[in-house]
Parts: sequence; C-alpha cells; structure tokens
Amino acid sequence: MSDVLVIGSANADLVVPADRRPAGGETVLGGDTTVLPGGKGANTAVAAAKLGADVALLGAIGDDAYGRLLTDSLRDAGVRTDLLRTVERPTGIAYITVTPDGENSILVSPGANSVLEPSAVEGVFGGVEVMVVSLEIPLPTVERAVAAAAEAGARTLLNLSPAAELSARTLAALDVLLVNEHEAAWLLGSGVAPAKLLDLGPRSAVVTLGARGALVITEDGTTGIPSPKVEPVDTTGAGDAFTGALAASLAEGVTLEAAARKAVQVAAISVTRQGAQPSYPSDAELERVCA
Ligand code: ADP
Repeated sequence: MSDVLVIGSANADLVVPADRRPAGGETVLGGDTTVLPGGKGANTAVAAAKLGADVALLGAIGDDAYGRLLTDSLRDAGVRTDLLRTVERPTGIAYITVTPDGENSILVSPGANSVLEPSAVEGVFGGVEVMVVSLEIPLPTVERAVAAAAEAGARTLLNLSPAAELSARTLAALDVLLVNEHEAAWLLGSGVAPAKLLDLGPRSAVVTLGARGALVITEDGTTGIPSPKVEPVDTTGAGDAFTGALAASLAEGVTLEAAARKAVQVAAISVTRQGAQPSYPSDAELERVCA
C-alpha cells in the first residue's frame, strides 16, 4: 500500500484562449485548444509523487482517449493507478476559456467522477499514512473516505475545494482541514479569525493565502508561513500543488508547520510555469532552487 492515498477527481482540461467569452446564443471564434491532464485529485497525486512520495490515486475515468491521457500522466509522475477505476461514463472534462485579462471561466462535466461511489473506498487504507481527499467527487464518497481512513488509523487531510457543506462528524474526523481564503470565509463568514476553524472540529487547519503564503492553525496557536516572492505566470493548480506537497511531507512524519513551509516553496515554483501538473517541481529541483 502507498504512504499517501489521494481520493479525488481526474479531468482533462480543454483550454481555449478567446478575446471574450460567448454570451447566450452567440458563437465566438477562439484560438487553438490545449488538452492538459487535470482534476484536483490527479493534480494533488502528481504533486506528491514528484516530490518522491509513494502515492496512489483512487478515482474514476472513462474508457476513452482522455482517460488514457490522464493515466499516462499519473504513471509518468510515478503515481500508482491500480485504484483508478474505469467506468461506463466519459472521463471528466473541464472546458476552460481564458481571456486576455487572464481570467478563466470553467465549465466542468464530471462524467466518470460523478459515479465514484462510497463503496469504492472500502478496504483500501491498510498501510496508508496520509489520506487526502478533495471535493470534485460525490459528497457521500468524501464523507465515507474520511470516516474509513480515520477508522483505519490513517491521517486525514481534506482540501475543501470546491466548497461544500460537510457533516459535523466528518469535520471532527479530520486531522487537517485545508482551505483557501474564500473557502475559509465561506465556512466562517468574512472577518472571522481563521483560528475559529478549529471550533468546527478538525484537529488542525491550514489556510492558503495566495501570494501571501499560508496560515497553520493548531491548538498551540496560529503561525504565518510567508511565500517566496515570485513572478506568477499561471496560478492554475497552485492549491493542488500545495495540497500534494503538504501530504507528502506529513507522510514523512514532519510537523504540520514544517510541511507547510515546504508546500509554499513547491506552490511558488508551480505558479512560475504554465499549467498544473507540468508546473510541479521534483524533489531534486526543489533542493536546487532552495539551496
Ligand atoms: P487556490 O489555488 O486553492 O485558490 P491559493 O491562491 O491560496 O489557493 O494558492 C495556494 C498556494 O499557492 C499559496 O498558499 C501559495 O503558497 C501559492 N501561491 C499562489 N499564488 C501565488 C503567488 N502569486 N506567488 C507565490 N505563491 C503563490
């Protein structure tokens, strides 16, 4: 069994540049389409594996060209795919329009991800140090994954992205609740101290703050982790890079603060390059950059 088990989505990202996004009933001609491997689960697994962690992805794809693209990308990064199911639905696709102002609009067709049932997570946690789950898969599966991982003694890390209502029981079974600023405000209301996240039940929390780095919140207090200053080129998948790096470090047994210090370095490198998975650094590269 792998040290890190990621449970989550795999999508093909179809990215098309356009001068503007079409209004209802309108046709707009855009530029060439780029097809990239994506999805929060697959991105997280690739980020962790590139850092040398022993990682598996539990997810669902279709029996189609996009499914094969995703499988190849996972395997190239060293992610184990024996828990990646092929189902009778098309592979998930994110249709991403990028306008010259850098703004994205994204339509996700979840396809295979939407039939990842809670039963898929039974009996998969033997030997797992850290279970990571994010929310582009059915909510009952997310909740079952957290409960089953906790029962099996794995550490549980949940990236609440995209934001969704979790049961109090699920929140209380989390070792780490990971959110960005928007998700934190969605959970707590704006202007509420992030430390209040612990009142929702998790043993610790991490809030990512974009270019400002991250906050680590434990019962001992809140610690700010500054980000290295970089020139961002493309922030797609930065949160997933952070999540994967955090999980990889936690599986090595370091503290949450030390894991977050490494995760901001990894995520900062990822925003200096195009795309999500192709932008994630290897451990060797990270050591060179941080030396
Ligand atoms: P999300 O991508 O989920 O919205 P954030 O925007 O908070 O989350 O980014 C996640 C992490 O990526 C941040 O904690 C930070 O480490 C890194 N990051 C994002 N944007 C930048 C940036 N402009 N410069 C440096 N690091 C960044």
